[in-house]
Amino acid sequence: MKKSVALSGPAMVPFIVVLALLSAVSCKSGNDAPAPSPAAGTPPASSAASAQKEAGPAPAPATPADGPAAAPAKGSSPDAPAPEAAAPTEGAAAPAGAGGDGAPAAAEATAAASTGTPSPAAELPADTVTLAVLETNDVHGYILPQKVFIRPDEKKQEGYTAEMGGAEWIAGYLKIAREHFQGRVLLLDGGDMFQGTMISNRFEGATVVEAMNRLGYAAAAVGNHEFDFGPAGEDTQGDPYGALKERGAQAKFPLLAANIIDRQTGNPVAWPGFAPYVLLEINGIKVGIIGGASRDTPTYSGPSVGAGVEFLPLDEVLIRYAPELRKAGARIIIGLLHAGGVCEEFDKPDDLSTCEPDEEMFQIARALPPGTVDLLIGGHTHRILAHRINGIPVIQAAAKGTLLGMAEIHYSPSLGKVVRVDIPRTVGVCHHHFKGEGDCAFLDHIPTTEHVPATFLGQEVAPVPFLQEIFTENQRQVLAEAQEKLGPKTIRRIDRPDEGVDHPIGLLTTRVLLDSFPDAQIAMLNESGIRAGLPEGELTMSDIFEVFPFDSSVAYVRMPGELLLDLLRLASSGAHGLPVIRGLRLVIDLAKDDCIAQDWDGQNGKEKWERNLLVSATLEDGTPVATDGTYTIIMSSYLAQGGSDFKRILSKLPEGSITFPPDAPPLRDLVVRWLKVNPVELGGPTDPYTTSPDGKPLVTVLNWDHVVGSSCTQPSAATP
Ligand SMILES: [Zn+2]
Repeated sequence: MKKSVALSGPAMVPFIVVLALLSAVSCKSGNDAPAPSPAAGTPPASSAASAQKEAGPAPAPATPADGPAAAPAKGSSPDAPAPEAAAPTEGAAAPAGAGGDGAPAAAEATAAASTGTPSPAAELPADTVTLAVLETNDVHGYILPQKVFIRPDEKKQEGYTAEMGGAEWIAGYLKIAREHFQGRVLLLDGGDMFQGTMISNRFEGATVVEAMNRLGYAAAAVGNHEFDFGPAGEDTQGDPYGALKERGAQAKFPLLAANIIDRQTGNPVAWPGFAPYVLLEINGIKVGIIGGASRDTPTYSGPSVGAGVEFLPLDEVLIRYAPELRKAGARIIIGLLHAGGVCEEFDKPDDLSTCEPDEEMFQIARALPPGTVDLLIGGHTHRILAHRINGIPVIQAAAKGTLLGMAEIHYSPSLGKVVRVDIPRTVGVCHHHFKGEGDCAFLDHIPTTEHVPATFLGQEVAPVPFLQEIFTENQRQVLAEAQEKLGPKTIRRIDRPDEGVDHPIGLLTTRVLLDSFPDAQIAMLNESGIRAGLPEGELTMSDIFEVFPFDSSVAYVRMPGELLLDLLRLASSGAHGLPVIRGLRLVIDLAKDDCIAQDWDGQNGKEKWERNLLVSATLEDGTPVATDGTYTIIMSSYLAQGGSDFKRILSKLPEGSITFPPDAPPLRDLVVRWLKVNPVELGGPTDPYTTSPDGKPLVTVLNWDHVVGSSCTQPSAATP
């Protein structure tokens, strides 16, 4: 589903129009015709028009740091929301990822291009100076180039592969932007930098920070997954924020955490390299950047996150610090937030009709008085935003470094203020474009003679090689290990589910769970714990690692039928994607409860997990779940320990109901083990591992296209 429960992502465009759309701007992923906005390769009119008088370099890119800390891999925290959403490309091809908050991860990105349109052209004062903001968010450790799968029609499996992303390519795009805007470029990151790939996780994110230092980031927001590695190094009992503090000390840019409050001091955490905000000067213009983490970070993190700290609503800290920064001389203020939105279309910045009104970024933007900030940058939902919400321009660039969000801030020194902000496009970090078009070229299905080098702002893009210089010997070994072949192969790419079918990787994984723990009747995972798709061909360690980057294991939960029904209602609420199950059949109606009729827990108003979308739940053979029966479920330890709001139900169980199988390895290793002894071929039309039993989906979704929450006229309905 699209929308918040987001299983599927973007959109659909018949292939025939894909090529045409590629050059155009992206409308949502798809549907109809793309809006005519500037293609990625051409400079937007707005930038050309703006007088750029003051030259001078922006904050100099950081110099290379010395060797990254080679921290050994170690337990991390659980699966957090995986949203992956991805976004559409250029109006065209929908990337194979989907989902919003808590949505499935599978995605792979998006293709390219421009989104949004310039704001209504107002006359700019003659002395206007343009500052370009480029941003990444939810990079999740993807510092190497990726083959991104793009689906022109989200309801179909067919798609095409394009090479996108990678830190060296981002460096190539940046080099051009820095020249074009005469140094007035600000590179920012919206958080969730580390969690997701072997080269990042094995070193607790150090490799990523090293690359970001080289790229010259000016600041980053702290994402929920920044907490995943817990104590630093091999230690498992020490400071739960140890690994993150090491990253803060390593980074040559501040990690912004205005809303992460140390309970002892009552102030934002004062860890090494952390700050609530930063005040920079670019060509004599002071720019204040206030950053922070999603209010819901503890919900998505391991049990130790939250110890000693609390997470304030982001609008509160923006309202608190913006006046301080203005007083200190800031003429431009940017909110850099690991909080996001979910919109299906983004070619018209002022059209919010396809956006879920209750997403955190929307709540924040609505709560800000006019003039508090000039730009908001988001993250967390893995979606594209290029919208104006409550008059504030908001940008967000999907995930995995395959896109750059972009804004042009026009500032008049004589007026001493921002006169206009354009959000002309999201830039695809493409390696090739189609000849004559502005967008990412697919590797397959298109003759390579149609490929040309990617261009940006009128110039050809070339990667800037630097990763080989920063990789340590240990890191090179991990890169080699990542290529180990496991045995099984896929005959086609397998990723997120299409409308009307179960999550294919979810089916495979729950099958592995029930095979491995035959005394359980039901297997249950969170969709957001499945973070990538499986490519076509022989599967490698790296492929499985990227699907399951978290080190969480599994647990048995024994529970009465009555509570199981409550758990299934919560799991179907859309607050954290859709449930991934075996042993049960569910029917879920996305349009059933837009306004959240029941304040289920009787406190805090109505929250997303209280939305009741569940129509029916039975065992897999159709037998009703008996309220007085008892059921044994094998689930990820992340869920069993209360993640994704499961604690609200599981905390009602008597002691001893949740048990951890002795020596159970991480879920990822269970899957690897199973694959090594079952050299199966996956992806065929009737393969019993990735297709639904009897060809009938275990999770049936009604009103798939409904924008959850959209019919509710009380926008605060889901606000705590
Ligand atoms: Zn996040």
